[in-house]
Amino acid sequence: MTVKEVMVIGAGQMGAGIALVFARSGYQVKLYDTDIEALKRGRQYVEQILEKDMAKGKIEADTKSEALDRLQPVVDLEADPITADFIIEAVVEKMDVKKEVFRKLDELAPAHSLFATNTSSLAITEMAAVTNRAEQFIGMHFMNPVPVMKLVEIIRGLETSEDTCQTVKELTEALGKQGVEVKDFPGFVSNRLLMPMINEAVYTVFEGISSIEDVDQVMKLGMNHRMGPLELADFIGLDTCVSIMEILHEGFGDSKYSPCPLLRQYVQAGRLGKKAGRGFYTYN
Ligand code: NAD
Repeated sequence: MTVKEVMVIGAGQMGAGIALVFARSGYQVKLYDTDIEALKRGRQYVEQILEKDMAKGKIEADTKSEALDRLQPVVDLEADPITADFIIEAVVEKMDVKKEVFRKLDELAPAHSLFATNTSSLAITEMAAVTNRAEQFIGMHFMNPVPVMKLVEIIRGLETSEDTCQTVKELTEALGKQGVEVKDFPGFVSNRLLMPMINEAVYTVFEGISSIEDVDQVMKLGMNHRMGPLELADFIGLDTCVSIMEILHEGFGDSKYSPCPLLRQYVQAGRLGKKAGRGFYTYN
């Protein structure tokens, strides 16, 4: 199937990044969020990244303006008919919210549109089941920050067709990314490995074994990680980290995946990480 127009649902850090990479690669992109401020921030983010790319000589001024022209914000999902061939969702990591989004999209989108979710850990098959197009439903899991990270985890649901999978593999390549196909199981591969490490890092602070800075130093200097686990948790969003741990906990039924109480406390305090200006670290 040929994809020309893409719609991104959710203009947060991931949705804006996904909209950017599609627009930069020549696709028409519509970007929707229930929060108009998030939509504005999403558009600003896209502009900033294109500006930086231009300053570094990676792209010409024309490329920047053309990419911005291809990106259209959508304030009301029902105001105009949806025409996108491919719709990807990047709203909060909550199954009930995502299901509601897909139920609505299934009513509003043309029959040929493919649906994808950028979920970090939730079941693709369960989300697909609320639509009448489970064979046209897939997981396309971008990494953060989307413009930089090469990997896309491609996750087939039980009913996902070969054609849908093929189209998403082709899209991944067209964006200059590399796809790795994984099975529909809690956390897939990326977050099944990453999140328990982050959670364990929070436990070492919670138990007074080490300071936030020292935990990160150990992993950076000792394991050659580019970012320490707590710095990375801030970058991902501590609310998203708690949600993913809860999904792993529920999915595997193993207490080893229980979110650290300190991680929950940070979220309760509104210290959600970089996006909130405060998490384990403070940001300007
Ligand atoms: P975020 O909090 O930055 O953004 C979520 C956006 O969704 C917000 O702007 C919010 O207003 C919007 N939203 C909420 N409900 C909506 C609805 N019903 N319709 C439209 N928009 C709605 O979150 P994020 O970090 O961008 O994460 C989004 C998704 O991407 C999650 O599923 C997350 O697990 C996944 N993901 C996150 C990362 C990461 O590092 N943060 C990496 C890969 C995947």
